[in-house]
Amino acid sequence: MVLNGKTALVTGASRGIGRAIALALARAGARVAVNYVRKAEAAEEVVALIKEAGGEGIALQADVSRQNEATELVERTLTAFGRLDVLVNNAGIARDGLCLRLKPEDWEAVLATNLNGVFYCTQAALKPMLRQREGRIINLTSVVAQLGNPGQTNYAAAKAGVIGFTKSLAKEMAGRGILVNAVAPGFIVTEMTQNLGEAVAENFKARIPLGRPGRPEEVAEVVLFLASPAASYITGQVINVDGGLAMAM
Ligand code: NAP
Repeated sequence: MVLNGKTALVTGASRGIGRAIALALARAGARVAVNYVRKAEAAEEVVALIKEAGGEGIALQADVSRQNEATELVERTLTAFGRLDVLVNNAGIARDGLCLRLKPEDWEAVLATNLNGVFYCTQAALKPMLRQREGRIINLTSVVAQLGNPGQTNYAAAKAGVIGFTKSLAKEMAGRGILVNAVAPGFIVTEMTQNLGEAVAENFKARIPLGRPGRPEEVAEVVLFLASPAASYITGQVINVDGGLAMAM
């Protein structure tokens, strides 16, 4: 129970990778705020699983792309738990399309959730973490930020932005006890990847050196490590959890 006495906020924790992260942090002893934007039932199910396992969790609705909602999300977490030790900026969307035809609203929606949301939640979380003189911020980026991917200029731009944000913030906070890292999944089986066309999905899978897509739990274990005392000397890093995909492409 390496996170006993700690509290965590995981954005986009109702499904997929965020859900697995919330469950892993709770299993390690953290009290967990499970954020969602639309799927209340799914978020309540995650909280129920946390409680069944003897943990403590709450479901909190908020659209992280809106600054006021992101700020309130952090405040509600603090009201519920009294402190905030770990922020996992996981909420993300994809709105794919070739750049030539990409609708401005699809560009803006992806940047708003995947990049602005990271900034809004982080800025709000820094205040309590600075007071506590400790904290962990873990941002979900993607191998696509490093490799590029046709049809994902918006998504790649946002996720590359997350890497620059992570490294800059890690330097700003290095003297203040707050460690900031990113995790870059490759192809993980979630609703997000189920929505990719079959041809795109097959093309990805064929290039994974480990020969299979990843599971959300395999990403969650790395996030748990970065949140734990074992990662006390790691900041400003991007850890790929991709079965070797980025190395191979
Ligand atoms: P997913 O299954 O589509 O789940 C997305 C989650 O984000 C849901 O919990 C959703 O909440 C939440 N969300 C979406 N927009 C939100 C908003 N504006 N405010 C708050 N929450 C919001 O996605 P996933 O595949 O687990 O991906 C999780 C993260 O990993 C994302 O940042 C994604 O870009 C990144 N990633 C995924 C893969 C992959 O292969 N799956 C690869 C690389 C990176 P609701 O349930 O309420 O809609």
